[in-house]
Amino acid sequence: MTTTSFLDRLTEDEPLVLAGGFLFEVERRGYLTAGEFVPKVALEHPEVLEQVTRDFVRAGSDIALAFTYNGHREKMRIIGEEHLLEPLNREAMKIAKKVAEEESKALGRDVWVAGNISNSNIYDPEDPATADQVRQMYREMVGWAKEEGADLILAETMYFYEEAKIALEEIKAAGLPAIINVAVFATGELRDGVSPAEAAKKLADAGADVVGTNCFQGPNTIRPILQSIKDAVGDHPVCGMPGTFRTTDEHTTFFNLPDEGNTATLPHERTFPDALEAQNSNRYETAEFGEFAHKLGAKVIGLCCGGSVIHHRELSERLGKKTYLGKYSPDMSKHFMYGNDSSLPEVATSFGSQA
Ligand SMILES: [Zn+2]
Repeated sequence: MTTTSFLDRLTEDEPLVLAGGFLFEVERRGYLTAGEFVPKVALEHPEVLEQVTRDFVRAGSDIALAFTYNGHREKMRIIGEEHLLEPLNREAMKIAKKVAEEESKALGRDVWVAGNISNSNIYDPEDPATADQVRQMYREMVGWAKEEGADLILAETMYFYEEAKIALEEIKAAGLPAIINVAVFATGELRDGVSPAEAAKKLADAGADVVGTNCFQGPNTIRPILQSIKDAVGDHPVCGMPGTFRTTDEHTTFFNLPDEGNTATLPHERTFPDALEAQNSNRYETAEFGEFAHKLGAKVIGLCCGGSVIHHRELSERLGKKTYLGKYSPDMSKHFMYGNDSSLPEVATSFGSQA
């Protein structure tokens, strides 16, 4: 429930928090198969998805995002479950809507509901027929999201400019506000050779209400990309949602991120996607990304793959928001060795540096 429309809210100074990263979060909880990455949790364990969505809102998210990432016709066809496509999309939207209404009431603040579309993986610039297929895929998903009450649509991890444009056209045709996020591989540009800044500028000019970048890059390597987008679009609302892994100048994305501390034989030769735990950022690193994005003037700030409830809570609080889960933020004052409370016995507090 909202007292203000999403577009009116965008005109206010305070940034919006958009918690993402449902794919990795649900996988981490054990309810999603890494690799195929299809969000069947909406149908098979709606109670899990509801809790994740609720936790993200309680950690400060202003938007309840429907988990339909990869929930498109092509993915459902690959896993032989195309018949579940529409039920999955509608159920994920219903869960987001339910959480938004209940938490909005409980927390006394606006919570918008976003539908979600993502990269199709079938778009091929050499094959015009794929553009039509992609358009059809987006059209049906945006249609279901609209019918189920979406306030806006987030199109994310768009790594072809042309595909992002199709997504935007379909969202606008449905009359809904659009956040369009491009995702940048280690090449530094989109797959069709367009720079993220140029893509963002063109998408903003074509009517995207918010343009930005999400995923692939970590909280540090995404910064120059977000900066270039901001420079290109000026005052137009911008969104930044990095993956949370510790990518470096040498390995700017999490796809090929090595882990020198790893002692195990990895089943898939690489740490992505199921052995990245030791490469995840701590909550303070991702909160500092939030500060960076805020100073840059980003209007929508959040985290993508790897981001958890505690990451989003710390980021939200760093942006000056009071969150429901803030009452559980770390407080070391009464820790038995590292606390400073006068009731703590010296025998314990004096031992901390040797522990
Ligand atoms: Zn992601």
